[in-house]
Amino acid sequence: MLQDTTDILLVQPPFFRLLGSHNDRGPLELAYLARVLRDTGASCSLINLDYSGAGVHCSWRDLFTRSKLLEQAVTGDSPLLYEAAEIIIGRAPDTVVLSAGDSLTPWVDLGNGWVAALLARMLRRAGLRVLGTGARLEAAVPDVRESFDEIIAGLPAGTAASRILRRPLREIVAADGASLIPDLAADESGSRYDVVMTATGCVRRCSFCDAARQPLQRIAPSTVALDLAQRTTDRLDLGDAILLPDERRLAALTEAIAGLGGRRFRFAAEYTVDLVRERSLRTLADFGVTELKLGVESGDTASLAAMRKRHDRDQTLRAARMIRDAGLDLTVYVLLGGPVPDVRGAALRTLDLCKGLPATDFVINVWAYDRPGAHPADSHFSGRLADEYGIADLLPGFFALQPDHKQSIGRIVDIDGPGPWRNRAECDRADQPGQGAQAAEPMR
Ligand code: SF4
Repeated sequence: MLQDTTDILLVQPPFFRLLGSHNDRGPLELAYLARVLRDTGASCSLINLDYSGAGVHCSWRDLFTRSKLLEQAVTGDSPLLYEAAEIIIGRAPDTVVLSAGDSLTPWVDLGNGWVAALLARMLRRAGLRVLGTGARLEAAVPDVRESFDEIIAGLPAGTAASRILRRPLREIVAADGASLIPDLAADESGSRYDVVMTATGCVRRCSFCDAARQPLQRIAPSTVALDLAQRTTDRLDLGDAILLPDERRLAALTEAIAGLGGRRFRFAAEYTVDLVRERSLRTLADFGVTELKLGVESGDTASLAAMRKRHDRDQTLRAARMIRDAGLDLTVYVLLGGPVPDVRGAALRTLDLCKGLPATDFVINVWAYDRPGAHPADSHFSGRLADEYGIADLLPGFFALQPDHKQSIGRIVDIDGPGPWRNRAECDRADQPGQGAQAAEPMR
């Protein structure tokens, strides 16, 4: 049992705020950690330093344009790092846990290991013990690891918190019969908790994905229902890697949820092309799924093979139509670039495919993680990587497919200009005295 005087501060450092945007979604892994720690007697609180409360989000295109700001931040050149240090040091906790990404969901653009390491160094200089957690630290390079007293997953116990947390959180969350649910009340920052887990890990082994390294572990239906009962919204994203169309499992979840006084939930769920069937779509819709987020990734055969995906272009077209015919909204994930043959040709074939898909939204990513030659500022919206892959001039065609509203986060605004997207070379030219911005092709 920890002493009740042990004061642990769980912190999601700024990430999207480093680029002038924000992420008001609560850090789910930290909320689960808060529950574990409080259950063992620690005094514990959580702050999301990526929160701003703004009513709109900048566009994905704006993030590509601004990605050089993240490159500056990983060298320490961001006032938000100093601001974060002041906030944390001012709380005078016994131990700080900094996240870099989230170990439970397969979503990767939630934090950065180098940014967390820079902040950890400042905090350690101020005499604080600093632990790290999150998917972006699990494969961290040595100088990132050395910035922390410990990385929670996998290291020997050395502090009160890590003694409790040395078992990987996803095992604790998924343990048979466990009633562990995230502690939303620990969050002091006003975060929105609209992501819920019914399982961790994945049954697939896609070459670019963190979840591929984690075995599927299901959370007990009674625990899922307990978690849903504490949510203040009935429209939720499932954080599962893929919501498997397992009729018995979904029936058990439905039965557990039925005990919540008739509350009806609507879910957005991640899905994969090769599991799209009329029957599976009916099963998902009966469970309350109203939106599928489909890992299409590419319209290029060689790229799909390199990614270890199990579908082809024609299957994707059929699956998308079936999803829409079933009355579900459809978000398509695209992954451009990466260690694939003919990167530019692959991107062109993918754009051609996307133009034929009846999707309500497109998420346009560049292959940034789990690749050779990684850079500290890699992200799915890296303008530098788009240049490196030779596809920067193709991105406007993809951005033109994106809507200006998402159900999960609301209105999206092109803040950086009325249309042109500038690649890195053009930004650099514009930064030179006497050089105006050179517009790329119009966006819409
Ligand atoms: S299907 Fe592939 S990309 Fe999707 S979560 Fe599983 S391993 Fe990751």
